[in-house]
Amino acid sequence: MFEGENIIEFQKKFHNNDACQSYLADIKATKVFQCKKCGNTKFSIRTKGHGRECHLCHHVESPTANTLFHKVKFGLQKAFMIVFEMTATTKGLSASQVAKRYSITRKTAWYFMQKVRLAMASSNSFPIEDIVQVDEFVFGGVETLKQGRSKDSNKKKLIAAVELTNTGKVKRAYFQKIDDYSAKSIRQIFDTHISKTAQVYTDKWTGYNPLGKEFNIIQKYSDKGNNMKQIHTVIHQLKSWLRNVYSWVDQGHIEKYLAEFSFRINRSIFKQTIFDKLIQRMVLHEVVEFKMIKLAPK
Ligand SMILES: [Zn+2]
Repeated sequence: MFEGENIIEFQKKFHNNDACQSYLADIKATKVFQCKKCGNTKFSIRTKGHGRECHLCHHVESPTANTLFHKVKFGLQKAFMIVFEMTATTKGLSASQVAKRYSITRKTAWYFMQKVRLAMASSNSFPIEDIVQVDEFVFGGVETLKQGRSKDSNKKKLIAAVELTNTGKVKRAYFQKIDDYSAKSIRQIFDTHISKTAQVYTDKWTGYNPLGKEFNIIQKYSDKGNNMKQIHTVIHQLKSWLRNVYSWVDQGHIEKYLAEFSFRINRSIFKQTIFDKLIQRMVLHEVVEFKMIKLAPK
């Protein structure tokens, strides 16, 4: 298992495509095997290429088959480097930059990065149980200094839930795109990420009122953002990061970028294992075909 954030160590360990294949094969060995030719479930791992070979018919399944590395044409070594950079960066890493650094087309870089983002999506299995701040905000369109709800149709309406430690530090953050500011739209983030036992803080928006029956909500005046400082800081960081990496060609993909930003915040205390965790998720994730990621840039 690769641990840490050291790029020299990383390059030593993953010095060629074979080393990367071997890493994928080790993770895959934990995944249930069923031969796609004959249905047999017994296999052994071949030394050459690290594929899983069926004991009965000797069909070989490559380490990348049925994972998000399926049909990566530019080589696993480059693919691993891109994943490593995406876990390490706190600034923007755009498809254009990646394309130049790895001598691949922008479209190829964009498509692979979208697959990495899919693997970054939350499992939704650990709802916030203690202290959480919730707030709505907008992104895109004409920037104004006005906080909160807006009627500009070019703006995307978003909602954030930020978990705090007992000492008021940010622990985890989740984001969702919402259609409007109604109680029905707002409650999606509550249902997905917030436990009924959590203490929730929001502003005075009436959309939160109906949720007070099921969740412990304390509503405070926002005081131009001075209340709930932590969530406003996180939202500010998200917006400046999005402005760097998100462009008009990515309309309709904002959820994947929100997932990427969340993933890095939520795993920032597990920096040592963040790369390995993401590779594991990419191996266990089902295959995603190009047509399933729509609106690819030209
Ligand atoms: Zn077989």
